[in-house]
Amino acid sequence: MIVVLGAGVVGLLTAHYLAARGDHVAVVDRESAPAEACSRGNAGIVAIGHAEAWAGPDAPGRLLRAAFGRDPAIKITSFWDLELMRWGGRFLANCTKAAHRRNSDRLLRLSTYSRELLRSLEDELALEYGQQHAGSIYFFQDPRQFEARLRSLDGAARDAGAFRELSAAAIVELEPALAPIAADLAGGFLSSGDFSGDCHLFCRALASHLRKNNRVSFCYDTDVTRLRIEKGLVKAVETASGPDLDCDTVVVALGAGTPRVLMSAGARAPIYPVKGYSATYPVIDAARAPKLSGVDETALVGFARYGDRLRLTAMAEFAGGDLSTPRARLQVLDRYAASAFAGAIDLTRAEHWAGSRPSTPQGPPYLGRLKHCPNLWVNAGHGQLGWTMAAGSGRIVADLIGGRRPGLTDVSAEAAWLERA
Ligand SMILES: Cc1cc2nc3c(=O)[nH]c(=O)nc-3n(C[C@H](O)[C@H](O)[C@H](O)COP(=O)(O)OP(=O)(O)OC[C@H]3O[C@@H](n4cnc5c(N)ncnc54)[C@H](O)[C@@H]3O)c2cc1C
Repeated sequence: MIVVLGAGVVGLLTAHYLAARGDHVAVVDRESAPAEACSRGNAGIVAIGHAEAWAGPDAPGRLLRAAFGRDPAIKITSFWDLELMRWGGRFLANCTKAAHRRNSDRLLRLSTYSRELLRSLEDELALEYGQQHAGSIYFFQDPRQFEARLRSLDGAARDAGAFRELSAAAIVELEPALAPIAADLAGGFLSSGDFSGDCHLFCRALASHLRKNNRVSFCYDTDVTRLRIEKGLVKAVETASGPDLDCDTVVVALGAGTPRVLMSAGARAPIYPVKGYSATYPVIDAARAPKLSGVDETALVGFARYGDRLRLTAMAEFAGGDLSTPRARLQVLDRYAASAFAGAIDLTRAEHWAGSRPSTPQGPPYLGRLKHCPNLWVNAGHGQLGWTMAAGSGRIVADLIGGRRPGLTDVSAEAAWLERA
């Protein structure tokens, strides 16, 4: 029996690809339903145009501004957190040009591979989750940020027409719903291969498909406390409530909960919970609501429309795992929604949410198995791109467990304890 820990989008897609090759799989989660943590309220953009590592030459300056409270999109509220200090040290070590290029290249390759898998899965299983396939626009209010991003865009993808540069006027022509903020736009680009959909709905539909077909069993309301290791192998998963779960192989896909469980197997995984917020509004005037998804890269606000709902997401906050939703943070979303989309949505009926992006200092996730415990696998740390990369990383890990050559190599972040994919 293969036990997948975590019923977020990453755990579910890993379970899908394992079950597809005939394995008996059980998925374990402490919540009572799938995708109740970070996969619940994200922007839902399969964001190839966003596949860039946060750690880069410009990041230290931006973090410094954030530390002094001078960056509206990035907040640091857990200064004296030892984990954040350790993580921050590694993050800074990855801010060189060479590391940024290497990590961004891994993110882009994994995201592109994953997108193709997700599209085929959507067709194969006829999943409905409010998806649109028209692409995403990424735009900038700050011309210097725009120039820097254009320079860093992958040359091959630009040449292939995957990314099309847009003037401010062209952005509004493509997405007239952005007309109210036209004066603030410095430029942007269209990533035509992007698509979007409600990740939570997708996860629920996928979990229900896996259960109906008797391919995967689910153990909800089960808090994993530690792994029992004997003679260099995981023998059982220990839980807070029920009996231990015996297993042949374990995949840890616990998002921000990964470090605590891996620690019991002697591995220190620097995955930090970087908090973000979302607000979902009912659409009241479909003609004025955006048809494309997109990201305002300067304000770090993402938006995606799922039929009669529009979701906005914002902020990167280093808050040590706290998931409260202070009014001041939510107002950032509501103010942006009012400036850009007033009239299209009902601003008085927002559903607010906060979640923790499970972020590695490098950017790419940890994929592979523990060097000192060969039946213990990791698929975690997908940061701001978990929905984008989940199908690809699930497939790679399932292929490796099955002893098959994966469709991509050299995409995992490095870690001393990891035999990485
Ligand atoms: C505001 C915001 C916007 C985002 N927008 C996008 C986007 O547009 N596109 C994109 O690609 N990504 C986006 N992301 C990132 C994406 O949501 C995450 O990368 C992704 O959801 C991570 O999936 P996961 O399965 O690894 O983690 P999770 O969804 O958090 O799943 C982990 C699961 O493990 C369970 N768990 C944890 N610890 C334990 C334990 N001890 N015992 C049992 N169960 C446990 C949790 O209950 C949870 O179900 C966004 C994130 C945020 C916060």
